[in-house]
Amino acid sequence: MPDLATPLTAWFRQNARDLPWRHPEFGAWGVLVSEFMLQQTPVNRVIPLLDAWLARWPTPAALAADPPAEAVRAWANLGYPRRALWLHRAAVEIRDRHDGIVPRDVADLLALTGIGDYTARAVAVFAYGDRHPVVDTNTRRVLARAVDGRSQPGAAAKRDLAAMEAILPSADDEAAVVNAAAMELGALVCTARAPRCERCPLADVCAWRAAGYPDTGDDRRKQARYEGSDRQARGAILRVLRDAATHEVALDDVIPEWPDAVQRDRAIDSLIVDGLAEASAGMLSLPR
Ligand code: SF4
Repeated sequence: MPDLATPLTAWFRQNARDLPWRHPEFGAWGVLVSEFMLQQTPVNRVIPLLDAWLARWPTPAALAADPPAEAVRAWANLGYPRRALWLHRAAVEIRDRHDGIVPRDVADLLALTGIGDYTARAVAVFAYGDRHPVVDTNTRRVLARAVDGRSQPGAAAKRDLAAMEAILPSADDEAAVVNAAAMELGALVCTARAPRCERCPLADVCAWRAAGYPDTGDDRRKQARYEGSDRQARGAILRVLRDAATHEVALDDVIPEWPDAVQRDRAIDSLIVDGLAEASAGMLSLPR
C-alpha cells in the first residue's frame, strides 16, 4: 500500500478551505450541529444557517429548552427537515444523559437520535481529536480510485472504514488531519464527474489513474427526482407552516394549489408520522 497520508497532509495544509468547524474553538456542539446540517447539503448553504443557529442556541441545553417547532422553523430551506427534529431530540438527550456536554465516546454518540456511524466518528475525531477512520462519500470516492482502481465506490461502506484505517498515521492529531484531507480532496479535486488529476497530490500513486481510468460501473443508489416528488410536497407544506403567522393552518388551506391531491394528503400524513407536523381540530401546525 503506497503512503497516502503524507501527500494528503501536505496538500491539506496548503489547500484546505477555511471552514468554521475547522477552528479549534468551534467546540463539540458546533461540530455536531454542522455535521447534521452538512448531511446532503452543500457547505455554502449550511454556513449562514449554522451561524444563526449557534448564535441562538449556543449549547445543547439552549436548544433543548425550546420546543421542536422552533428547530424545524430555523432549519428553513436546508432540506431533509427530519434532521432538525432529530437534532432537537439529540440536544434533549445530551442535556438529560450527558449533563449538557456532547459525548466523546463513539458508542455514546451513536446512541443519540439521528447520529449514524459517520457523524459519531466525525464528532469524536474533529471535535475531540480522537483517532478513528471517518469516511464520507467524498472519502469513499478517493479511496475507490486511489486504492482500488475503481471509478466510483462500491456498495460496501464498511469496507472503506477498514481501508481508511489502513492509511491513517498512528498519532491522533495526524490521523485527524488525514481524515479531513481525504474528504477535502474528494470535495475539491477528486470530484465525481471531473477529477482534476493534474492538481492531485495522489496522482503518482493513484491506482485508477495508473490503470487508464477504466469505467468500473457505479452501484451507488441514484438520488430520486425532486420535481414532482413527495419530498417536494413535504417541503412546500413545511414552508407554509413555518411562514404562518399563528404557526398553524387549516388543513384545507395547506397547499390547495398542489396538482395531486392524493400526493398532498400523503405528504401531510408522512409529516405527521415523522413528528414534523401535528394535526388537531382541522388545523395543521409544526410540532409544539
Ligand atoms: S489522481 Fe485523479 S482520480 Fe486519482 S485520486 Fe487524484 S483526482 Fe482522484
